[in-house]
Amino acid sequence: MAGDMAEKLRFRPSAGTMAALGLKDIKSDAPPTTAYIMLGEKCVRDCSFCAQAVHSTSGAGRLSRVTWPEAGEDELLAAIKKATAEGSIRRVCVQTVGGRGALETVCIAVSRLRAACHTGTAFSVSFSATAGLDDIGRILDSGADRVALAIDACNPKLHRRIKKADMAASRALITNAAKAFPGRISTHLIAGMGETEEELLKLASSLKEEGVGLGLFAFTPLRGTAMEGHPAPDMASYRRVQLAFWLIKKGLLEEGAMGFDGSGRLLYVGLPRAEVEGLAFDGEPFRTSGCEWCNRPYYNERPGTELYNYPAPLSRDEAARALEEATARLRFAGEEGGR
Ligand code: SF4
Repeated sequence: MAGDMAEKLRFRPSAGTMAALGLKDIKSDAPPTTAYIMLGEKCVRDCSFCAQAVHSTSGAGRLSRVTWPEAGEDELLAAIKKATAEGSIRRVCVQTVGGRGALETVCIAVSRLRAACHTGTAFSVSFSATAGLDDIGRILDSGADRVALAIDACNPKLHRRIKKADMAASRALITNAAKAFPGRISTHLIAGMGETEEELLKLASSLKEEGVGLGLFAFTPLRGTAMEGHPAPDMASYRRVQLAFWLIKKGLLEEGAMGFDGSGRLLYVGLPRAEVEGLAFDGEPFRTSGCEWCNRPYYNERPGTELYNYPAPLSRDEAARALEEATARLRFAGEEGGR
């Protein structure tokens, strides 16, 4: 397929994207505001948590909790054109699973999707962190605004075991890419794979300093993957991490203003409680965190359960509960037990 500009591509939009584009009749209480489109079948990599990993026995049409049916290219491009013109879809995110060998196809796909989008539509590509700077440059030149190089596992041991990769090399690629393409590189961090809150938040803080866009997701055990027996993260821990992560993303919380206990649990946030509660009262820190307009409905949880990442504004009760969970065991600036 590579290089053949005329051949139709195999696009797999998420089932929720198909519904939001009017290509599938599924009811949803939280339609995606980003069109998520997977390219390729099985990944060349073998990440232990991923349904697309080379040794995963999950079906080819799965990624995260979500199914990805195949869509006809012409039909898909026409639907993207309409939805981006109407404003129901504000970003397109192409998720690539084919590794470097698929680069040519990714670039063709990006240029065709970009040509279909209404002016001003944002565009991300989530690409393998084994990419080179030239590859990233080519994807950006094809029409993407941002490339996400997912670091996922937040300490070197986990990175080696789960991603089968050297964390220093993954980290260096992101640093170099952020320098070469300022404001156009993102990454994803996954909470709950065995890292401490300290490791995740310090990594987030250093990436923020480099100008890298940040997305936070909750580990989701998936049948057929090597980590299917690993538990989903503890909700109180995830809420604490979400709150601090959100403050880091906003540029309000630096590494030196966080305190941790001996097991790496966040204990202290160096801002006044009233300020944090005033900023977070509407539950914004507990919404899906990633590129603008990325809401990934039900990637990490089943409908009807408490949501790790809310895809839409929280109700007053949901926001109050999430904030209470996040702050219950934290100390803030000026409080007893703080600094
Ligand atoms: S944060 Fe969302 S839109 Fe951005 S690259 Fe990741 S999945 Fe795509």
